[in-house]
This record gives sequence, structure tokens and C-alpha cells, in this order.
Amino acid sequence: MSYTFPKSAELFARAQHSIAGGVNSGIRKMEAPVPLYFDHGQGSRLFDVDGNEYIDFQIGQGAILYGHAPAGLADAIGAQAHKGTHWAAQSELEIDVAERLQKMIPGAERVRFNNSATEVVLSALRLARAHTGRSLILKFEGHYHGWGDEGLVGYAPPPDQWGTPENPTRLHPSKGVIPEVLGTFVVARWNDPEHLRQRVAEHHDQIAAIIFEPVLCNTGCMPAVPGMIETIRELCDANGIVMIADETITGFRFGAGCAQKHLGFTPDLTILGKAIGGGVPFAALVGKEKFFAKIMSGEVVHAGTLNANPLCLAAAKWCLDQVIELGDKHPAGMIALGEQLMAGLSKLAAQNNIPLRPQGAGLVFHAMMLKPGAQEGPVTNYRDYVLRQDAPRWAHLRRCLLEEGVRAIERGLWFISLAHTQADIDEALERAALAFARHA
Ligand code: PLP
Repeated sequence: MSYTFPKSAELFARAQHSIAGGVNSGIRKMEAPVPLYFDHGQGSRLFDVDGNEYIDFQIGQGAILYGHAPAGLADAIGAQAHKGTHWAAQSELEIDVAERLQKMIPGAERVRFNNSATEVVLSALRLARAHTGRSLILKFEGHYHGWGDEGLVGYAPPPDQWGTPENPTRLHPSKGVIPEVLGTFVVARWNDPEHLRQRVAEHHDQIAAIIFEPVLCNTGCMPAVPGMIETIRELCDANGIVMIADETITGFRFGAGCAQKHLGFTPDLTILGKAIGGGVPFAALVGKEKFFAKIMSGEVVHAGTLNANPLCLAAAKWCLDQVIELGDKHPAGMIALGEQLMAGLSKLAAQNNIPLRPQGAGLVFHAMMLKPGAQEGPVTNYRDYVLRQDAPRWAHLRRCLLEEGVRAIERGLWFISLAHTQADIDEALERAALAFARHA
């Protein structure tokens, strides 16, 4: 098939004269051979301005859990738009959405809304610091909590700046960050409960919160090893630390009760984004009432002109109703499709002698391309991931896949949506076979 992208290339060249760097989120520049311009989407499919059709496994970086442009969502947003797009005031819709979250998520006693998960992370960390009167936040290497000064500490340090295994570095990938912010973080390695115990022991009475992705999805796809989340819970309880689960990706993807119900733990605060709005800018902080006390008293400022925007609320209400109706059933179907895709990609890789090792939870997984001679077996932490991952080779395979109409995330992640079907997986593997042959 081998798609070409002349109109996208033309638009990208035009964008250079108005949009700084040509894109509105840095990572989008990674799309090769050119950042794509889309015309429309439907279900599991995306259509670009050159008329190319993609089976989409990028699905809006995970937000499009219900597929592209579901009619019910479009109707909900459209009906609200006719009544008004923004009031900067209350609406019954916000209570409707909050009450749904209370019913779905154990421990969601109180709720506040923002427009992006990056903002919700700021809200959560501020609340935790105010609640405990402490400054330090413990986070894990490779975990992503939005692009803010606080969300990206320790996200992607290069190997020569890792720091020791006992004391990982507090590096921020962006210039322009206030240096003092780094001093308010303690970084720990993921999936090493004993190391975590040591990190907490070193700073226990200064740590306000431990924040983590319950299934690490932003650096490979790495479920927590047995005992990891239990250790976080135990250390938080023993030391008066606020446990913050960042479920921006896992929220609703793992069922109505999110990954926390699926995995059997209850955090103090939870960050929700992406699938909660099905692609509109909407995000929420939920958690136990006592952790919201300082917002309720007004001591902690939480604000936003567009918070609880009625268009976003109408979308969120529709999305949550879909998830409620499916209950905890939908992960099984999505997991099965994802696992088939993982198995099919592994088979194609073996047939073509390509060292691609899909790893993850089926409904979200990472296609790990191994460097020559790299160790086999599951990747469980950030350092392992960096040492083993052949990023340039994956980038080439990803481009071949794109040119055959299969779209995965630039850094190797694949999402399954509720709109994907058996026929999509079969067709994706047929198209992938052509891409793998060309890549090899
Ligand atoms: N937290 C996690 C785990 C994420 O994956 C992301 C985004 O990918 C964020 C926070 C930030 O979300 P947003 O881009 O909506 O601000």
C-alpha cells in the first residue's frame, strides 16, 4: 500500500510560519516522515488530509476510549452547545458527573474538576502539601505526571545523569524550570519495594505524597510487581503520607472502578483525565473527603475559568454512562483483542527476525524493540527500558506501519479502544505484515 503524505507535508511547511515549531505539543513532532494532519475519524479509524485511512491505536493518546466520533457523544456535546458553551458557574451537570464518579470509584468521596490532568496533578500535590504541612513529593523514575515543573521531575534522565541506584537524580527534561522545584522531590526506582522503603526511611517525616502510575504506561508498559502497590499503601499509612494514584491513562480503561479497583487498592487521591472526557479537555481529582478539607475551607486555592465547563461535562456524563453500563466487563474484551494483537505482532517479528517484544496489559501495551544483544524477558523499570530499547529502529518500524495504515504512538505504546473489533485486529495484522517485511 505504502501511503504518501503530500498534503500533510504542505500543511506542516505552512504551519512553520505561524505555529512555533509547527506543532502544539512537542511530542507530535516525532511523527515521521511528517506530523500528520487529520480530516476526520470514525470508530477505530482515522482519515488524514491525503485521504489515507488508518486503523488507529494511538486513539488520541488514550483519550478516545469510545472510538472516534461516537454519535451519542457528538449529540451530547451538540445539544449542550446550543444551550451555552461556558458559564463560569454551576450547573446540575457537574453534580451529575461528580455523583457518577462517587458511585464508580471506591474512595471518591469528593471531586474537583480541571481541564487537563497536568492541572489536576498540581491540584493534588498542592493539597497533599497543605494537608501534611510537608514539602517533599516522592515520585518514580519514568513516571509521567503532566508537563508542568512538578510533573516531569525524574521522567526521562539520560543514562549519564541517572545518579546512583540508591539515589536517582532529580532531573527535569525541560529548560526554564525553577531549580528549587527539583529540591522538593525525592525520586525512587519503580518496582523495587525495598528501595522504596529506604527512600521513605531517609525522608519519612518530610514527604507529603507518593505519586505513581498504577500501571506504568509512559515508559514502556510495566505493571507493578507483586507487593509494590501494597508497599506504597503501607508506607503512606505508616508515615502520614498522601497516596496519589495517577490514573490519567488507566482510569476507566481498566473498568468502571479504574485500575485501583481492578488491582485492589484504594488511594487517598486519584488523578483522572483522558478517557473521562472521551477527547474533550476535562480532568478530575477524586479522593477521600479529609484530603479535600483544605480546598473546602478555602485555605488551598483551586481555580480555573473553564473548570466544569458545560460542554466538557456533557461529554463526561455521556462517557461515564458508557463505562457504567459496561461495568467491569469491558476490560476482558479489550484485553483479549489487545493480547491477540500482541501475539500477532510477536509472530510477525519472529518471522521477519525483528527483535520486537510487545509487553503490557493487552488493552494498553508497549512494543519494545530490543537493541542487538539486549537481555530478553520482561522490562520492569525505567533503567532497564533505556538500556534495552532500540528507539531508532522502533521509529523506522513505526513509520513503515504508518505507511501501511496502522497508527501506534510514536514512543511505542498501543491502545485498544471499545470501538476496535476482531476485524480491526485481523486487518491491522495483515497490514503490519507488509510493514514488517519492508522494515526487515
Ligand atoms: N499523568 C499521566 C499518567 C499521563 O499519561 C498524562 C498525559 O499523558 C498526564 C498526567 C497529563 O495529562 P494532560 O496531557 O491531559 O495534561
